[in-house]
Amino acid sequence: MAPTIRDWTSKFLFGGPRSTANLIGVCIHTTENDPSTPAENVANYQLNTQSGSYNTLADRKGILRENTADWITWSTGNKGNTLLMHLSFVARASMTRAQWLAEDAMLRNGAWEVAQWCKKFGWPVRHVGVAGLPGITTHDATRAWGSTDHTDPGPNFPWDVFLRYVNEEINGGTATAPAEEGTIMAELTGVSATALDIVRRGVTTLVTPLQSVINPARSFLLTDLVRFIDATSWENRVYLRELLRSQGKDPDEIRDEAIKADREGK
Ligand SMILES: [Zn+2]
Repeated sequence: MAPTIRDWTSKFLFGGPRSTANLIGVCIHTTENDPSTPAENVANYQLNTQSGSYNTLADRKGILRENTADWITWSTGNKGNTLLMHLSFVARASMTRAQWLAEDAMLRNGAWEVAQWCKKFGWPVRHVGVAGLPGITTHDATRAWGSTDHTDPGPNFPWDVFLRYVNEEINGGTATAPAEEGTIMAELTGVSATALDIVRRGVTTLVTPLQSVINPARSFLLTDLVRFIDATSWENRVYLRELLRSQGKDPDEIRDEAIKADREGK
């Protein structure tokens, strides 16, 4: 269920425009306030001092949006500010796991917003360092890019719980695990599958990395893979036609004859 949303995006005017085409993932932060602090207090402080900003704050009550996706935030070093969507919990990086788990409403509120971003941009729901993007990374991990020394959201952030909530939101509020290909096919052909369920699982498939057959250590997003196949097949077609023409052969004639021969052979 959607949390209470406070839209303050018209107030946060420092930063500047950025292209959403460059966005590659989510960055998780803590504001370093007591978890009882209302997000409005944090946002007002940031506005008054122009000391920082995020895309969205998550507190116990819901979420507060500071900047839209097409606006530069002041959240990490320069690179992270132009490449990532920033979600900050009104909490502290020093919190223990027990203290985090006590903030269940806040975790769910933040997970809801991150799920919207992962769905919108097709990012996989996985915790990664900056080299592993697209996915969900941290302010701590962006230190690899330089010009920042923060280590939030801290070593005890409950990734297992948080990622489960993000996945649940993407899967339509159920606890469904990402579907295997075989399961999807069974559902597509089975009488018990509902169209809605297939659509939900389809969304999961789009954000679940596909393992390479050639090198199992590598994985791809389905959307990226289709774009790559499209570009590669087009390129191969251009090369091959040019090669045939250079040998005095007509590529269209070869194709038409092959189609004819195939159809006659049934
Ligand atoms: Zn941070």
